[in-house]
Amino acid sequence: MFRLIEELYPICRSITGDGLRETLRLLQRQIPLELREVRTGTQVFDWTVPKEWNIRDAYVKNAKGERVIDFRKSNLHVVNYSVPVRRRMALAELREHLFTLPGHQDWIPYRTSYYEESWGFCLSEKQLAEMKDEEYEVCIDATLENGHLTYGEYFLHGDTRDEVLISCHVCHPSLCNDNLSGIAVAVSIARVLQSAPRRYSYRFLFIPGTIGAITWLSKNEDKLGNIKHGLVLTGVGDAGRLHYKKSRRGATEIDRAAAHVLKHSGQRHEILEFSPYGYDERQYGSPGINLPVGRLSRTPHGTFPEYHTSADNLGFVHADKLGEALAVSLEIFSVLENNRTFVNLNPKCEPQLGKRGLYRMVGGAADAGLSEMAMLWVLNQSDGKNSLLDIAEGSGLWFESIRQAASVLQEHGLLRECSGCVPSAAGLKLGKKS
Ligand SMILES: [Zn+2]
Repeated sequence: MFRLIEELYPICRSITGDGLRETLRLLQRQIPLELREVRTGTQVFDWTVPKEWNIRDAYVKNAKGERVIDFRKSNLHVVNYSVPVRRRMALAELREHLFTLPGHQDWIPYRTSYYEESWGFCLSEKQLAEMKDEEYEVCIDATLENGHLTYGEYFLHGDTRDEVLISCHVCHPSLCNDNLSGIAVAVSIARVLQSAPRRYSYRFLFIPGTIGAITWLSKNEDKLGNIKHGLVLTGVGDAGRLHYKKSRRGATEIDRAAAHVLKHSGQRHEILEFSPYGYDERQYGSPGINLPVGRLSRTPHGTFPEYHTSADNLGFVHADKLGEALAVSLEIFSVLENNRTFVNLNPKCEPQLGKRGLYRMVGGAADAGLSEMAMLWVLNQSDGKNSLLDIAEGSGLWFESIRQAASVLQEHGLLRECSGCVPSAAGLKLGKKS
């Protein structure tokens, strides 16, 4: 994952254009991603697909002809979506188009101007301080023309048409945590799930933020009914704790699965309520769409100083943190895959476990009691109304031990899967474990 981030880091991405295409083509080496192109001017709900932006070079040269601001050194130096410029001007005029980050001498801010035609350069405070009051040659060798919005989609078939949506944004230039970390984890999830048994189908979207999600949703309304769970992945590589942001509905299966997995992960974490701000969970969670899509991140965007600056670089993301985020994501999907509802076939008093070889079957191991406890919980609560996740939550036991208990009990003819049963949405109807 870290190597993929290193490979993608230098590319100047935006919400449209060749940098975005190049990024998606690099991902095609890892997974069979399909590239989709949507024409400029296409109406997508209340929005319009913008003109396509491409940039070759940009600089500000001083009187000596030296590049004092150079796009080749960092693509963050140009305000993303700047219109082309080729002029000479005095510092006073240029100054209105220069953006710095007060308080961080060496950092370059990341700025965009997607929906208003303008231009600008971003630079460090230090660079600005060195600029003399003289005439400068300003060049932004870019085009803003009719073209396409590009996004990547990978659909991995499962045993059913029910889908899990995994979405990440791919529109930021050289920024690692915000953008590339989510892409890297999503690609790895796809690669793992490719060779795993799957009840659900998985749909991976690699889309430009906001406009990409809006475009996909407006063109795929017929598919929304199949999406049973979803996860937006972004900002998962920094050193901060994991944060799961709940879906708009707030108590969906993925919200509960994520909370359960994080609780039992032993890692510091936080669960956030939904808010109509952040990444594309806003679009998935708009009232007319209202999909059960949560978000997994580490330190929330906007709350760390490196956010949207050149300091969100390769040194800001960590391979082990990406690995943890991948493991937690896969665990969440594993809970969803295995969350089934059973009926106890011997419901009148407890079945005799000993005569079936189920008593102390784990033979003296320290978790023998725990396994028996899991079996007792599964037997007691499997009345066709409680799912295994309901039982895990109600008992305080780890989902995996509940799942294993159910599997053993099923093998011994004590449980039957209840495929037509609808688990109670509010979870287990029993008192909290004291
Ligand atoms: Zn961002």
